Amino acid sequence: MTVNFFEIANHLLKCRLSGSNSGHTGINGYCDLIFKANQLTLASKFILMSVRNLEPKIIWNHFEDLNAVPRPSKKEERVRQFMVDFGKSLGLETIVDNIGNVIIKKPAAKGYENRETVILQTHIDMVHQKNAATDFDFSMQGIQSFIDGDWVKAKGTTLGADNGMGVAAAMSFLSSNDYPHPAIEALFTIDEESGMTGAKQLDGSKF
Ligand SMILES: [Zn+2]
Repeated sequence: MTVNFFEIANHLLKCRLSGSNSGHTGINGYCDLIFKANQLTLASKFILMSVRNLEPKIIWNHFEDLNAVPRPSKKEERVRQFMVDFGKSLGLETIVDNIGNVIIKKPAAKGYENRETVILQTHIDMVHQKNAATDFDFSMQGIQSFIDGDWVKAKGTTLGADNGMGVAAAMSFLSSNDYPHPAIEALFTIDEESGMTGAKQLDGSKF
């Protein structure tokens, strides 16, 4: 079951065109009712059906935050800044190496200082493809995901689950303090999908 935004928008548009929201009877009053009912329906369905409401919420919310940022291969400036801001907002050491990979380091939890450091590696670029009928500017627009039955899909474009879910999982380990962990070094490489330049030119001295 999905929320049909277009149908609701269409209703509202028709009502607007006929002069809605006046509180009058007749067509205007009817439109007011539709308007209010649709607002309620939309609000309740949105809460229930939002990708952000899926479990585990922490991962899906990081995924949605990430997917709001355009991130085609070779054009990672914005998503790199997003990752840097994310690391700094947590007060964690955040490094950008020469090629443009981001490394965020999280100290070990209390009692886990003597464990070996774990490196989590994911890539922040994604394959940007859209359906022929979809009007979409990948350099400006974020991915619009929605729930379709048992699936999370994107409206007319690639979803970015490769490697967005990996990035979201790594972000969850960095942002959560609900679990014991050794020191973590999260490596977010660039340009995996079109040359692997981030991985190939990684500066190993940063670890
Ligand atoms: Zn990939």
